[in-house]
Amino acid sequence: MNVGVVGAGITGLFAALSLQRAGATVTIYDAASPGARSIHAAGIIEPTTAYRTNTLAFLRRVVKYWRRGTCAFRSVDGGWLFESLRTLERPPPGDWEAALDAMGRASLRAYATLAEEQDDFGFAARGLVERYDDPAHFEEACRDAAAKRDRAPFEVRAREGGPGDLYFPEVAWVHTERCADRLVRELGATTFVRASVTAVDLAGRISTDVGDRDHDCVVVCTGVTSRSLGLPLTAVRGYGWHLRPARPIDVATIHVDRGIALVPFGPELKVTGGWDFDLRGTRRRAEEVLDAVRELVAFDRVLDVQDGARPCTPDGLPTAGRVERLVVANGGFRLGWSFAPALGDAAARLALEERGNDPFLARYCGALHAGPLGLRGTESVVLPPAT
Ligand SMILES: Cc1cc2nc3c(=O)[nH]c(=O)nc-3n(C[C@H](O)[C@H](O)[C@H](O)COP(=O)(O)OP(=O)(O)OC[C@H]3O[C@@H](n4cnc5c(N)ncnc54)[C@H](O)[C@@H]3O)c2cc1C
Repeated sequence: MNVGVVGAGITGLFAALSLQRAGATVTIYDAASPGARSIHAAGIIEPTTAYRTNTLAFLRRVVKYWRRGTCAFRSVDGGWLFESLRTLERPPPGDWEAALDAMGRASLRAYATLAEEQDDFGFAARGLVERYDDPAHFEEACRDAAAKRDRAPFEVRAREGGPGDLYFPEVAWVHTERCADRLVRELGATTFVRASVTAVDLAGRISTDVGDRDHDCVVVCTGVTSRSLGLPLTAVRGYGWHLRPARPIDVATIHVDRGIALVPFGPELKVTGGWDFDLRGTRRRAEEVLDAVRELVAFDRVLDVQDGARPCTPDGLPTAGRVERLVVANGGFRLGWSFAPALGDAAARLALEERGNDPFLARYCGALHAGPLGLRGTESVVLPPAT
């Protein structure tokens, strides 16, 4: 079977790996180098901490983020906004919590297995500290964590000068650049085509700037640009820096109320921040977000910076589905790395017809259609600037 994968982000790389392992002939298309548009992430692999975004609790949190300057609003996808409001407080279909848990755990196992074979990507299974500044948010987080204790073990830790921390021992982290490189090495039998895909159709055709090719199935993992195929998706953008900290830290820490994550790699620190609802990628807030990082951690040098998007569905959870010969896998949002191995595998199984659409994962895929791959500027809602 001959499968074309569009998008060599973290989801596309894992989809290609599952397809290659299943014996398919795989071609992966991307104008960017493999992983380049996903490596901004902190690389924290959280198996059981996904939450829904089409809830009043999430809206309240976003408003608090906006007041503090953690989050900015520029533009959102119109279809995403409509669907988010239409389904406000409505859970996804099927046993979605069990499905997500299974995907999170399978993904963590996939990273652990790659690391057991050879740990050349900084895999560290040392847990995650969630640090809170806002007492009300901390209390809410404690209640949420307690309700999920059976599935996601945690500890409450007292902290001087703040309401407290939550510690999740099952969380791991990876070095995103090295992990992308490792996946490329694993994909030795896959062909990489350095081209932007202009359109896909339902019969397996991929059109690029350099010509068309037919495949038995096409798997689209292009993040936010997949909105042009009918998926309600919006972009929540952020930045990732490598820094040389003045003092090393020893465990991955998310400063939840500031939207900033710190992940240690020996003498280096990966720092991420920024929660900007913005369909067009620019680095306009990078300096502002880095100033917020400076309040948390002293550092001598910035080594590099990347930016990227959290592709967000209306409920903030991943989606994968098939229409004719077209499969789409998307919506990793803030946990795209955490779900990529399982989401990529679900896409591969759909392409190989080893599974069909299920009510939870395929919930947004009924409206999938053939079309150009790119931003649909006219269908986005441009939000007024913050006052
Ligand atoms: C600041 C920040 C920190 C984050 N930290 C974490 C974290 O710690 N843990 C975690 O689990 N997740 C994290 N995430 C989320 C994660 O980065 C995303 O969910 C993930 O990158 C989504 O992966 P993807 O492959 O689905 O899409 P993308 O990463 O968007 O990749 C899509 C790929 O498709 C390609 N593409 C697009 N259009 C075309 C086209 N027309 N033709 C060919 N190719 C195309 C792009 O070039 C790109 O390579 C973070 C996100 C941000 C912004």
